[in-house]
Amino acid sequence: MPHVITQSCCSDGSCVYACPVNCIHPSPDEPGFATAEMLYIDPAACVDCGACVSACPVGAIAADTRLTEEQLPFVELNAAFYPAREGKLPPTSKLAPVIEAPVVHTRSGGPLRVAIVGSGPAAMYAADELLTQQGVRVNVFEKLPTPYGLVRAGVAPDHPSTKRVTWLFERIARTPGFSFFLNCEVGSDLTHDELLEHHHAVLYAVGAPDDRRLEIDGMGRPGTSTATEVVAWINGHPEFTELPVDLSGERVVIVGNGNVALDVARILTSDPDTLARTDIAGHALAALRESRVQEVVIAARRGPAASAFTLPELIGLTSTCDVVLDTADHDLVIRDLATETDPLTRNKLEILAKLGESAAARETGISRPRIRLAYGLTPTRILGNAGTTGIEFTLTGSDETVEISAGLVLTSIGYRGKPIRGLPFDEVAAVVPNDGGRVVDQGGAVRGSYVAGWIKRGPTGFIGTNKSCAAQTVHNLVDDYNNGLLADPVHKVSSLDRFVRSRQPKVVDHAGWKAIDDAEISRGGGHRPRDKFTAVADMLDAAATAPEPPAYQRLLAGLRR
Ligand code: NAP
Repeated sequence: MPHVITQSCCSDGSCVYACPVNCIHPSPDEPGFATAEMLYIDPAACVDCGACVSACPVGAIAADTRLTEEQLPFVELNAAFYPAREGKLPPTSKLAPVIEAPVVHTRSGGPLRVAIVGSGPAAMYAADELLTQQGVRVNVFEKLPTPYGLVRAGVAPDHPSTKRVTWLFERIARTPGFSFFLNCEVGSDLTHDELLEHHHAVLYAVGAPDDRRLEIDGMGRPGTSTATEVVAWINGHPEFTELPVDLSGERVVIVGNGNVALDVARILTSDPDTLARTDIAGHALAALRESRVQEVVIAARRGPAASAFTLPELIGLTSTCDVVLDTADHDLVIRDLATETDPLTRNKLEILAKLGESAAARETGISRPRIRLAYGLTPTRILGNAGTTGIEFTLTGSDETVEISAGLVLTSIGYRGKPIRGLPFDEVAAVVPNDGGRVVDQGGAVRGSYVAGWIKRGPTGFIGTNKSCAAQTVHNLVDDYNNGLLADPVHKVSSLDRFVRSRQPKVVDHAGWKAIDDAEISRGGGHRPRDKFTAVADMLDAAATAPEPPAYQRLLAGLRR
C-alpha cells in the first residue's frame, strides 16, 4: 500500500525531508528538481509510514487505497518516474540531506531585522527560513489588506487543496518575531531607503504582477484581455473587479497553453453550481451563470510535444472536463508520439491521443461547454472593428491563415516582473538582476537588497519551488550579516510601528487580517470555504473589528521592544 503524490503537488520538498527512507524524488539537491513538474514516490521503496502525508502543506499525498477515481492515474505516474532513473538515484534507506538552517551570529546592536516586501509564497518561505533562528525580526509589508499573494489571487478556486498551503503560512505568521504590515505599499507609503533605516536588509518577494503582452494588431480592443487578469477577476482581487469579461459569445480563444490557460478554460466551462461551492468571487460566479460560452479553444503556436501545461494538470483537466481535439491536431499528436523519447512527454501525448474528436462530439450534440486544444497556430491579428469577432492565426511555419471566431480572446503567454523603484531591472528577463538573491548592479552587490521568487528567477515553477529559492536568498543574506556587510538600522525596533502608522494609519496587522479572514469564512455560510471581500474598504471595515490584544500581551510586546 505505497503512498502516491497527486495533482496538487507544490514541489516544496517538505515530504522529501520527512521521508525516513528517501523514496521521494527528485529531491531539492538533485538535478532536475528545479524543472520537475511534480515529485514522485518510489512504490518499491515506500514503507507506507505516512510521514510525507503530514509534512505535505497542500494535502497532495495519500495511500494508494485512499485515492479518488480522478487520482488513480497518479499511481502509474509516480511509479513511471523510477525505471528510467535506475542507478542514477541515491540509494534508499537513508535520510535525504537536510539543508542546514542559516546560523545567525548575534551581535550587540540588537537582533537581525529584515523587511520582506510582498506576502506570497516566496515571502512566507523566506520568513520561515529566517525565523528558524531565535531573536530574528521579520516584518512583512503587503499593499493589500489580505496576505498570501497568488495563493489568494492566482490559484484557481476549484483547486482548494493547493490553497491549503495557507495553513502553513498562518503558522509562520504566528511565529514569535513575525509581524504583518498589510495595506501598506512600499514605493508609495514608504520608500526603500526608509525601510533600510529600520532594518538590516530589505528582501523583495513581489512576484511578477504584470502580463507578457502579445504585440498583435487589435489587442487591447474590447473583447480582448489576458488570462492572468481574468484569474485575478475570478479570485476577487480588488484591482480587477471591474474587468470587462464578455461571456455573451459562444466561443472564447486563449492564446498559449500553460497551466494558467488550463485554469481559465476549466473555470469558463465548469458548472456554476459546482463553482458556487468554492471561494470564487461573487461577481465572477454571477457572470458565469449568465455565460453563453460553449467552447474554449486553447491555441498553442507549437506542437503537442511542446505543450506548456504540466502532466498533473492535464490529468486533472481531462478527468473533470470535456476536452477534444480536431482531426488535424490528433494527427500532430500521433506524429509527435512516433519520435518522442522523454517518458513524461510521451505520457502527455498518450493522454492527448485518447481525447475525443471535436467533429464527432459536434455530431452527437454538445451537452456542456467543452475545451478544444489546438496546435501549430501563430496569432497574427484580432478580428473585428470596434469589438472582437475572433482571431487570425497563421499555421506556424507557413503563410496559410486560419480564422477562429470568438467573442473573447485572452492571451495567456506568461506573467512579467515589474521594475522596483530604486533597484536595477533587467528589461529582457523582467527580473531584478541578482546573484543567488543578492541584488547586483553592474557587477557589485546593492547593499541590503535581496530578492526571492518570481522577481528573482522569472515566472516559472510551483508554489513550493519558492521554498528552495527563498532559502538560497536567506542563506546569502545571513552570510552578509554575519560578515558585517549589512549596516545596523538607524532607528530602534520600537519606532517602526509608529513610523508606519504615520504614513499609513490604516495599516492592518495579523489580528486585522484574522478579522477579515473570520468575516469572509462566516459570509461563506458553511457551504463555501469563504465569501471574499473584493473591495479594500470592506476589508478595512472588517479589519477594524479586530479585538484589541489583552493588556498583558501589549505589555509583553512593549517589553520585547
Ligand atoms: P507558461 O507555462 O510559461 O506558458 C506560456 C505559454 O504562452 C506557452 O504555451 C508559450 O508557448 C506561449 N507563448 C509565449 N509567447 C507567445 C507568443 N508570442 N505567441 C503565442 N504563444 C506564446 O505560462 P503560464 O501558464 O502563465 O504559467 C506560469 C507558471 O505558473 C508556470 O510555471 C506554471 O506551471 C505555473 N502555474 C502552475 C499552476 C498549477 O500548478 N496548477 C497553475 C498556474 C500556473 P511556447 O512554449 O511556444 O513559448
